[in-house]
Amino acid sequence: MFDWLPWSRKRRRKTLLAAPWPESWAIHLNRNVRLTWNLTDSQRQQLQNRTKVFVAEKHWEGCEGLVVTEEMKVTVAANACLMLLGVEDFYFDNVHTILLYPHVFSRRQDAGHSAGGVEHRSGEAWQGGPIVLSWRDVLHGGRNEDDGKNVTVHEFAHALDGLDGEMGGNIAFDSDQDAAAWKHVVDREYAELVQACEQNRRTLLDHYGATNQAEFFAVATETFFERPAQLEREHAQLFSLLQKYYRIDPIPWQR
Ligand SMILES: [Zn+2]
Repeated sequence: MFDWLPWSRKRRRKTLLAAPWPESWAIHLNRNVRLTWNLTDSQRQQLQNRTKVFVAEKHWEGCEGLVVTEEMKVTVAANACLMLLGVEDFYFDNVHTILLYPHVFSRRQDAGHSAGGVEHRSGEAWQGGPIVLSWRDVLHGGRNEDDGKNVTVHEFAHALDGLDGEMGGNIAFDSDQDAAAWKHVVDREYAELVQACEQNRRTLLDHYGATNQAEFFAVATETFFERPAQLEREHAQLFSLLQKYYRIDPIPWQR
């Protein structure tokens, strides 16, 4: 276990995993991460382990005067770690820092952008850099488990997408066949979403996913965890590939 990790980190993880799950953390999870309500006992145990390591190993920073509390760390960690319940020994090791803003934050739009103004964001993910989140939106995402929106899941999907060195929507599969199917299915689904967006048609997948294929993957991931049954019904191939990728079936979590 953890063979690639330096010895001191391995030992630290072992100590963390052996420590009891604090009662106050259980309250945060119960209140703020509704998707955890229907986990199986073993999934819950695993989520607790992941959350303990994640909270301890990440560097947390509050922005615009926000003081990062234990509740914030546990809520973000559990939302993110839920995505990893099908995968062994991975704690988003490519993400070192999490920046939290009290609410949506502004970003100046790129030079040359038509509006040239300021954009408001609830989250951001940077290749090799931090995950940036609005605490208010983290809470909203975690407490509304079936509206298809969860900014924490969205930004951490970008982090997974970045594991190949590029956040471009191309994710890794065990088999070449699944990788090829992913390319094929996403090209088709993405084109359909762009068209629906142009025609102003309502879709299960948020129109933001029509921005580019990286956003498509992040939006599809949000839908996979928050509206899995609908995704399976309406986009069966996309659902089945995401199920292979995350190695989990989130449908029972919605009961
Ligand atoms: Zn995004």
